[in-house]
Amino acid sequence: MFQKVHRKYISRLCHFIPDALFQRCLTMPELPEVEVTRRGVAPHLDGRIVTAVTFRHRGLRWPFPLELPALLVGREVRGTGRRGKYLLLRFDHGTVIIHLGMSGHLRILELGVEPQKHDHFDLVVGRRLLRLTDPRRFGAVLWHADADGPLEQHVLLAGLGLEPLEDVFSAQILYQKTRNRSAPIKQVLLAGDIVVGVGNIYASESLFRAGINPKTPAHRISLARYERLVDAIRIILAAAIEKGGSTLRDFIGADGQSGYFQQSYFVYDRAGLPCRNCGALITQIKQGQRSTFYCKKCQK
Ligand SMILES: [Zn+2]
Repeated sequence: MFQKVHRKYISRLCHFIPDALFQRCLTMPELPEVEVTRRGVAPHLDGRIVTAVTFRHRGLRWPFPLELPALLVGREVRGTGRRGKYLLLRFDHGTVIIHLGMSGHLRILELGVEPQKHDHFDLVVGRRLLRLTDPRRFGAVLWHADADGPLEQHVLLAGLGLEPLEDVFSAQILYQKTRNRSAPIKQVLLAGDIVVGVGNIYASESLFRAGINPKTPAHRISLARYERLVDAIRIILAAAIEKGGSTLRDFIGADGQSGYFQQSYFVYDRAGLPCRNCGALITQIKQGQRSTFYCKKCQK
């Protein structure tokens, strides 16, 4: 239903979001989706002056900062950023922190596009606006004033692991930080306290690419194998960003047809199908309530 309603006015959207990407945004956003969103909205926001801020609900996961219009109208957007799955809009005196939750997505629209039921927040910059749609309302819009301290010490950001695509994330650091972790490597990746953004799909795919069995205790993995894993994580996340992000349902259109963002996974969601490398059948197991897919022959 939600898809139908929104697809109806897709032709009224401006610019950067092609149909398949929009469809993708209807599913749970992972790091690549947030980064794709950031890159998509940035050119429409950078250097623009905020002319209005509108809330149409009390809040999402947390109450909206109702002081935001007073804080932002007349101010210039100094830039955008991302930390984990948090999108950051920087101003001279602080930062708007946006999280897309389970179902949120952001679009750039022309001024005057009528808000729909789940459109809870608009940031207007002249003749365009940034609109947050979030049917399940697990997302967030928050304000962090510079006067309250460094942004990285914000309660939501302080505990986040390293950014996987930045140089600070390395095999050496992954090796060091896992010496006392006996949990399976797949779950250590998903925990997010060492590295952020390696969600369920990306963890399964990265471990396949690195040839590591997802059940291996993290402290038993050698530095050389972590080097392969770090390379694999980077390559897979970068490829997902390149393709516009990916999640399972992204590729299933309202009519059940595959969209053009379909990625060819090696193991994810391929239980019982032949491994693309060796032909053995892909195994599916549960780890901490999440499905893991791997090849018993290729991953040791
Ligand atoms: Zn295999």
